[in-house]
Amino acid sequence: MSQAWLFTGPPGSGRSVTARAFAAALECTGPTPGCGQCQGCQSVMSGSHPDVEAISTQGVTITVDQTRSMVGRSYVAPGVGNWRILIVEDADRMAERTTNVLLKAIEEPPVFTVWMLCTPSPDDVMTTIRSRCRSVALTIPSARDVAELLVRRDGVSPEAALLAARAAQSHIGMARALATNPEVANQRTKTLREAVSVRGAGDAVLAAQRLLAGATERAEKQSTHSDGAELAELKRSLGVEDDKRIPPAVRAQIRELEENQKRRSTRAKRDVLDRAMVDMLSLFRDVLTVQLGAGIELINEDFAQEVHDMARSSTPARSVQRMDAITQARQRLAGNVDPLLTLEAMMLSMRPQAGAADTSFS
Ligand SMILES: [Zn+2]
Repeated sequence: MSQAWLFTGPPGSGRSVTARAFAAALECTGPTPGCGQCQGCQSVMSGSHPDVEAISTQGVTITVDQTRSMVGRSYVAPGVGNWRILIVEDADRMAERTTNVLLKAIEEPPVFTVWMLCTPSPDDVMTTIRSRCRSVALTIPSARDVAELLVRRDGVSPEAALLAARAAQSHIGMARALATNPEVANQRTKTLREAVSVRGAGDAVLAAQRLLAGATERAEKQSTHSDGAELAELKRSLGVEDDKRIPPAVRAQIRELEENQKRRSTRAKRDVLDRAMVDMLSLFRDVLTVQLGAGIELINEDFAQEVHDMARSSTPARSVQRMDAITQARQRLAGNVDPLLTLEAMMLSMRPQAGAADTSFS
């Protein structure tokens, strides 16, 4: 039995679900391992098994402190189950210094400990870690398979399911959100509209501002609620009354929470923007496939008209340029470049004649 595993696969391939299912099989108390029925299986899948811990960061990175405390727990014998299992859902969000802390623990784990790391690709972890893990590579399911699941499990109509599965590029969670949550579907439509309606530099700059404002608003909506509750909870546990001054002794803890919340909100905003860029990228990929006569199914079937119009009015080289601009913007955002500047540069390249003399910016 390997005690360190690395699950890799693109977003939506189910890395962390696979890790969890594997953990359930290891902790299974039923007649056949991974029965899915017993107390062991069910508590692992619901996240309440005392010996199985999943670390998923909501911050931009996994901190050294988080890793140290996790490593500490990896030396504690399991209480009720067969194994002590630690699942790191975003192992790619570990800084190198953090990884070194983990490396030691993975090298010589106690006999009862199993580590499961999840990353998009094997290159996302340092070679030293990778070489000590047993690798499991996952692939994304076909759009048809995802659509079938949405029909069967979520009661979505077959047409809507296929449309959503394609638009989400087989990301199951995203496909379900598109098919069942009008707000998510609406957001995608809005993003794609921005990409097809840029005419001049003025449009581009305004579109960039709208994209950023929309992402900020949604990220805030996601986190404001939990932020307030967390702060109230921490204050309660520290015995600080809401209307009283915060005693100096506990200020550091409150500050730490606030910093974590800030990191989480940055990450949420970045994720929302990245999603928008992935959607735009898929649109120009569609344009390019039409231009090249590839004859393959469109990702954005609901934008077929716009895709064909753009295919006619531009060249394959132009489509590649636009895709490059989006890819570059994604890299810049991941590298902490100012989001507004990045989005502006990207939207400017969406113009029908990027770089040409432009009179609309008056
Ligand atoms: Zn079981």
